[in-house]
Amino acid sequence: MAQAVDYLIVGGGIVGLTVARELRKRYPAASIALLEKEAALGKHASGRNSGVLHSGIYYDSSTLKAKVCAEGARRMKAFAAEHDINCQHSGKVIVATSAQDLPVLERLLKNAQANGIRAERLDEQGIHQIEPHAGVYQQGIYCPDTAVIDSKAVLLKLRELLTATGVEIFLHAAVDSIDVAARKIITPAGEFSYGYLFNCAGASADKVAKHYGLGLDYTLVPFKGIYFKLRPERAHLVRANIYPVPDINQPFLGVHLTRVASGDVYAGPTAIPALGRENYGILQGARLAESLRVGFEISRMYLANHQNFRRLVHTELGKYRKKNFFAAVRKLMPELTYDDLVASDKAGIRPQLINIREKKLEMDYVIEKSADSLHVLNAISPAFTSSLAFAEWIVDQSSIA
Ligand SMILES: Cc1cc2nc3c(=O)[nH]c(=O)nc-3n(C[C@H](O)[C@H](O)[C@H](O)COP(=O)(O)OP(=O)(O)OC[C@H]3O[C@@H](n4cnc5c(N)ncnc54)[C@H](O)[C@@H]3O)c2cc1C
Repeated sequence: MAQAVDYLIVGGGIVGLTVARELRKRYPAASIALLEKEAALGKHASGRNSGVLHSGIYYDSSTLKAKVCAEGARRMKAFAAEHDINCQHSGKVIVATSAQDLPVLERLLKNAQANGIRAERLDEQGIHQIEPHAGVYQQGIYCPDTAVIDSKAVLLKLRELLTATGVEIFLHAAVDSIDVAARKIITPAGEFSYGYLFNCAGASADKVAKHYGLGLDYTLVPFKGIYFKLRPERAHLVRANIYPVPDINQPFLGVHLTRVASGDVYAGPTAIPALGRENYGILQGARLAESLRVGFEISRMYLANHQNFRRLVHTELGKYRKKNFFAAVRKLMPELTYDDLVASDKAGIRPQLINIREKKLEMDYVIEKSADSLHVLNAISPAFTSSLAFAEWIVDQSSIA
C-alpha cells in the first residue's frame, strides 16, 4: 500500500530541503515527504561545494540568478546567525590578471549597480590592503557581502527543523520507477503516491523529468570540480576569497582561493568534463555508457564552439595535470610555489544542462512543469547561495501556489 502525501520531493540536497521548508511554511497541515537516495544528506553537490555565499555580482539583472542570489545570501546569513552555523562574513576580491580582464570588470560593476549589490572598484594598492598577497593587474573589485558558510551544517539543521515540523525524510529512497498517470513512485524505502511532486534530484533531475515528457530540449553533462589545498604553513597568505575575472559567457567562475569555514584554504574548483554523474575520483563513479554520451555531447559542443567552448575544454582538461592547475592559481597569487599546493579529496560534480538545439551551456536556472509536477533542471552555482529565495520562487511557480 503506497503512503499518500500531499507533496513529494525527490532529492535531499539544498534545493529539495529548502523547497520542503517553504512548503511547510505555507501549508502547516499538509503531508510532505522527501526522498533521498543516499544513506545521508550532503553526498553530492550541496555537500561538496566551495561554501561561498555569492553576492550576485556575476549575473545580468534580467536573469533568475540575479533575482534570487543576493536575497538568498541575505536569508542564508540570517539562517546561520539564528541557528549558530559557522558563517564567515569575510568578503572577497575579484582580481584582473591581464588587460583582457578589465572590460569584464566594468561589466561586473554594472551588474552590481543594476542588482543593488555593494561592490567597490579598487586599484592594486586597495586590493593589497584586503588581500596583501593577491596578484592583480591594475584593478580589482571588492565584494564586502560575500561570506563562507559550513554547507553541511546547513543541510543537517534543515533536516532537523523539517523533521521537527512533521516533514518525513526518507533515506535509501532512490526513485526506481514512476507511474506518472497514477502519481505513484516506487523506492526501496516504500511506495508513495502524491498530490504534487517537486523534482529536485540535482544530477538526476533530467532523468526524473523525462518520465513526465519534460526537459526534452536539454541534455545534462557533468563537469568535475577538483580542489587542491594550500599547505597549512602557507594558508595565512589568503585572508578570505580571491577570485579571477570569469569568462562571463560560461557558467563557471574559474579556479579561486577560498578560506573555508574550517579555516583551511582551498584552490579550485575545475570544470573538467566528467565520466559520469558521480565520477568524483579518477575512475570512481565512472560509467561507460555515460562517458560515451558525455564524449558525444562535448564533441558536438566543441564543433559548434559557442561560448568559447573549445577554450574551456582545452584549459579545463589541462588542469588534470597539477602543473596547469598551479599555473591558474599562481596568477591569483604569484608568490605561491608548486609545492604549496597539496592534493585534497574534495571534489564535486556540477550537473550542467546543455540546450541541444542551440548547442550552448544553459547559464540560468531552468524549471519545467506539468499539471502536478515541477522539475528543477539546472540548479547550478550559485544555487546553494540562492536556495532560500529560490525555493520561494519555485513554489510560487508551481500550480499549487
Ligand atoms: C565544486 C562545486 C563548487 C560549488 N561552489 C558553490 C558555491 O561556492 N556557492 C554556491 O552557492 N554554489 C556552489 N556550487 C553549486 C551548488 O553546490 C549547487 O548548485 C547546489 O548544491 C545544488 O543543489 P541540489 O539540491 O540541486 O543538488 P544536490 O546537492 O546534488 O542534491 C540532489 C540530491 O538528489 C538526490 N537524488 C538524485 N537522484 C535521486 C533519485 N532518483 N531518487 C532520490 N534521490 C535522488 C541526490 O542523492 C542528492 O542528494 C558548487 C557546486 C560544485 C559542484
